[in-house]
Amino acid sequence: MRLKSDSEGQYTGRILKGVGGFYYVLDDTGSVHECKARGRFRLDGTTPLPGDIVCFSTQKDSYGFIEEIMPRRNELKRPRVANVDMVAIVVSAQKPQADKLLCDKLIVHLKRAGIRPLLVINKCDAAAPEAVDALEAEYSGVCPVVRVSALSGEGLPELKAALSGCCTCFAGQSAVGKSSLLNALFPRLSLETGGLSRKADRGRHTTRHAELIVLDDFSGTVVDTPGFSFLEPESIEPEELGALYSDFEDHASRCRFNGCLHDKEPDCGVKEAVLKGMISEGRYQRYLTILEELQEMKEKRYD
Ligand code: GDP
Ligand code: ZN
Repeated sequence: MRLKSDSEGQYTGRILKGVGGFYYVLDDTGSVHECKARGRFRLDGTTPLPGDIVCFSTQKDSYGFIEEIMPRRNELKRPRVANVDMVAIVVSAQKPQADKLLCDKLIVHLKRAGIRPLLVINKCDAAAPEAVDALEAEYSGVCPVVRVSALSGEGLPELKAALSGCCTCFAGQSAVGKSSLLNALFPRLSLETGGLSRKADRGRHTTRHAELIVLDDFSGTVVDTPGFSFLEPESIEPEELGALYSDFEDHASRCRFNGCLHDKEPDCGVKEAVLKGMISEGRYQRYLTILEELQEMKEKRYD
């Protein structure tokens, strides 16, 4: 990391991390500037976050100042970061078995928030290629899919290419290999893997702040702490759900009814596509599960 403080000026950049009242801001040229936040941010209760796009001023031979924080596109609660463009949903091709319902729910929330999903199938070294093919086929119409192994290194160049041009956070169920993948991509990270000694280290983990790691070619950033939860999760109306399924899109235009839920309605283009094998049966069944959950939640809300 180069710290630049040899000139005065106004720039825009992205906060990589905050430590002890200092913020480290990456500018367009790949230089990192040490900055403090202007006192007025504290007055109006704004805390600069990793991922924030900021205007900052630099002074000769001293730290700079964050002058303005651009409106956030989104804000995650865990890890606490702003302006995530993409979430890499990691699943395992072997154990633990991919929790596809969790994947589908994550994808729905991401699409709604305007964040791109990327499905990362890890542990491909330890699974039959046919099993990986099946998993990939189910999501190939939904979002980009990459097949990788943190252990053997296969697919890591493709994963790196997919991370280019955006700010990505890794998410997914426990033990799928998120930490292993981050370590394989960024060896200096040395995150713990396998859940070993996590308990003993809990104190350290709760105080650790998320940080953005910059790709070698400065083409993108990755949040060093896996996880994904919005600060304010908005409830989704059941009628909205279908439109968040990009693999349903072409077929839904053939539904007889406007606002078809693709559930019990006759002449439903989505159900026809499922029968023809154009949409996977599993993905459709999970859609119905999520639809039902949203309907129940809605009833509770209006009770
Ligand atoms: P996390 O909980 O998602 O961060 O998962 P970890 O990175 O801690 O990995 C969980 C376990 O899976 C560890 O025992 C890893 O060694 C193992 N693992 C991670 N990636 C791979 C992989 O690509 N192939 C195989 N065979 N095992 C892996
Ligand atoms: Zn329909």
